[in-house]
Amino acid sequence: MLLKPFNFHTPNSLESALQAYGSLQDVKLQAGGTFLFNSLKTMKRKGAKTPQNIISLAHIPELKGIEDQGEYLLVKSMTNIDEIYDSPLLTDNVAVLRAAAKNISSQLIRNMATLGGNLTCRYTWTEMPAVMIALRARMHFIGADGKEEIVPAEEFFKNAAKTDKILTHVSIKKDRDVSFAYSRAKKTPYVDIPLLSLCITTRFVKGKFSQTIVAVNNCVAFAQRDRRLEEFLNGKSVDKTLAETALEHLDGSIYDARSTDYKKHMFRVGIGQALRDLEGNKR
Ligand SMILES: Cc1cc2nc3c(=O)[nH]c(=O)nc-3n(C[C@H](O)[C@H](O)[C@H](O)COP(=O)(O)OP(=O)(O)OC[C@H]3O[C@@H](n4cnc5c(N)ncnc54)[C@H](O)[C@@H]3O)c2cc1C
Repeated sequence: MLLKPFNFHTPNSLESALQAYGSLQDVKLQAGGTFLFNSLKTMKRKGAKTPQNIISLAHIPELKGIEDQGEYLLVKSMTNIDEIYDSPLLTDNVAVLRAAAKNISSQLIRNMATLGGNLTCRYTWTEMPAVMIALRARMHFIGADGKEEIVPAEEFFKNAAKTDKILTHVSIKKDRDVSFAYSRAKKTPYVDIPLLSLCITTRFVKGKFSQTIVAVNNCVAFAQRDRRLEEFLNGKSVDKTLAETALEHLDGSIYDARSTDYKKHMFRVGIGQALRDLEGNKR
């Protein structure tokens, strides 16, 4: 199906992108384009109005790549999922990004889809939001007026991932003492989108969980923390019975929301598995 005509803008600097974004009406941003063009087709099929202007972020060098800045790792918004997977800079706690990137769709999609698109597209099932919450990542935006804004990932997704700015990068504090586990379940045995996903980070102090974050994506709401499970885990020693007893301390409002019995079961399997993985990967 042919798309309705639109003006396609290809700025080659962040400054010119912001200028276009501030001056054009009826405009949409394009990152990898994997959701955007599909949604334009759906809108056309339904007879809805589609945007007149599309600004591609594909030719803006300031938005690409991963930088080690010492204490922090910066992942720029136009870095694609495959580049994230391949990066040698993902060490310590940040290596969890590789675990998440590995399962995202197919090679073709991973080559096109960007971190920025994954975080800002407002589909509730994409996987990077939970990972960013568990890493306490900060999201850096810039508005058409040139003003910068830094928002903790947890706050961004609590506010339903709304923005009228350009996400430039995320910054993540590197921490070699933080252990992590990532778990996802999909609907079918094939390459498929997740039915649920979760990311747990913790710091083991004398063998006990501390500063634990359990970030859960039930795929019907934006990723959120299970604070009930976090409270239960903090101060507990890792032992073989923990994964079982932890399952009695879940925030039911997260796991029961529009869930089938299968999905609820898979959440329990995923949490048990993540806790066992943490035990195995203890730092
Ligand atoms: C077939 C398929 C399977 C997939 N499977 C998975 C999966 O298993 N797991 C998973 O996590 N994801 C999956 N995805 C999602 C994918 O990883 C991308 O997140 C998603 O496709 C959007 O990324 P994009 O870069 O193509 O964004 P685009 O489609 O280009 O952009 C979508 C929208 O995001 C916003 N946006 C993008 N970048 C910025 C920015 N820098 N600043 C502000 N707003 C911005 C804009 O509103 C834009 O219109 C899948 C996608 C497809 C098409």
